[in-house]
Amino acid sequence: MSIDLAQLRQSFEKLKVIGQNEAGGITRLSFSPEFRQAQVLIKSYMETAGMNVEIDSIGNLIGTYAGRDQSLLAVVSGSHLDTVPNGGAFDGALGIIAAVECVRSWHKQNWRPLRTVKVIAFIEEEGTRFGTVCFGSRAMLGEFSGKNPESFVAASGHSLLGFLKEMGLGEKPFSKDSFFQNGFCFIELHVEQGGKLEQEGIAVGVVSAIVGINRIVMNIRGKANHAGTTSMELRQDALVAAASLISYIYNQALAAKGNYVATIGKLDVWPNAENVVPGEVKLTIEIRSEDVARLERVRKEIIEKLKELQRDYKVNVDIIKENQVPPIPMDDKVIQSICNIGKKLRITCKKMPSWAGHDAMIFAQHIPTGMIFVPSIGGISHSPAEESDWDAIEKAAQILEGTLKELASNMEGL
Ligand SMILES: [Zn+2]
Repeated sequence: MSIDLAQLRQSFEKLKVIGQNEAGGITRLSFSPEFRQAQVLIKSYMETAGMNVEIDSIGNLIGTYAGRDQSLLAVVSGSHLDTVPNGGAFDGALGIIAAVECVRSWHKQNWRPLRTVKVIAFIEEEGTRFGTVCFGSRAMLGEFSGKNPESFVAASGHSLLGFLKEMGLGEKPFSKDSFFQNGFCFIELHVEQGGKLEQEGIAVGVVSAIVGINRIVMNIRGKANHAGTTSMELRQDALVAAASLISYIYNQALAAKGNYVATIGKLDVWPNAENVVPGEVKLTIEIRSEDVARLERVRKEIIEKLKELQRDYKVNVDIIKENQVPPIPMDDKVIQSICNIGKKLRITCKKMPSWAGHDAMIFAQHIPTGMIFVPSIGGISHSPAEESDWDAIEKAAQILEGTLKELASNMEGL
């Protein structure tokens, strides 16, 4: 139990002010001057912790604490250093600071693990630049091999190659020799970003899976007509049909008591005029669950509901596009490791899905991966009001330290 909370907090507070505005919001977009300034600070923390530091070809900062047997695969931890515009201080940053503090505490006691331990501060997890979340970890694990880096241009007009040049990096971010290949397992500490742990009074969450996401894009077609002269019984109002569908989906999800969430967050209404009965609505339904069978069942129920909608509101419904990203389970043995350490330290842990995506979901497709959640006060994230309790942070950091230590002492394999 060697985490120094005062040290951890001090490191965190120094990072927090980089890119912070007067109202407390933090904007540390990948590749920006603030982002680079934050990298310099994290690099200094890593060096103080006895790590060798490098920046890979896409801009991920990697600290390496050499193990006693360097022929063994490395235990990897970390999280993302970028934020959304006007984001919070804890999202991403806490996972980096906590992992570096674990290593610093070992270094201070002159303890060297059997396996090398690496801490990564990822770039561009939020996807604010190129519209792809976990861009840095995907690039590092080879997902963009064969892609032309010139094809990545941000909405702001900046090109990926221009960004890399500003950071003093080369022009081959997706070349094979830059891919990360020597990982044994990956553990990410992160704030929950939801309110479940706080509601239930649980200190630490252990992620079972990153939820899968189904998106259904559909078009509801009625008939646009005069808002005064068209009598109510003759209307084919696409927006009223959409409203009925929206409340159906909402009520079904509410009744499922936390097994899945469903959102209709985007509507295009045509002609969208105050004196015309809406003739057409394009909407996107998003469903998230860690249970793939549940996702399919909800999808079927919605399709079934569409028949009723067509009959009741005299509209036609066409499904234009469907997109399914399956749930990504965390590794059972890593989960067990985290839970065992929690038990040893007498800290209450709870297994739970992660309702948001993280770099861990990219790693989980390559090496055994786990996540440790810290409760978020009020369940608020991506906001200046994002907050976590320091007692809870200490507990989660202790579990991270114990888990990294145990896995870095593992001789055989998972
Ligand atoms: Zn995050």
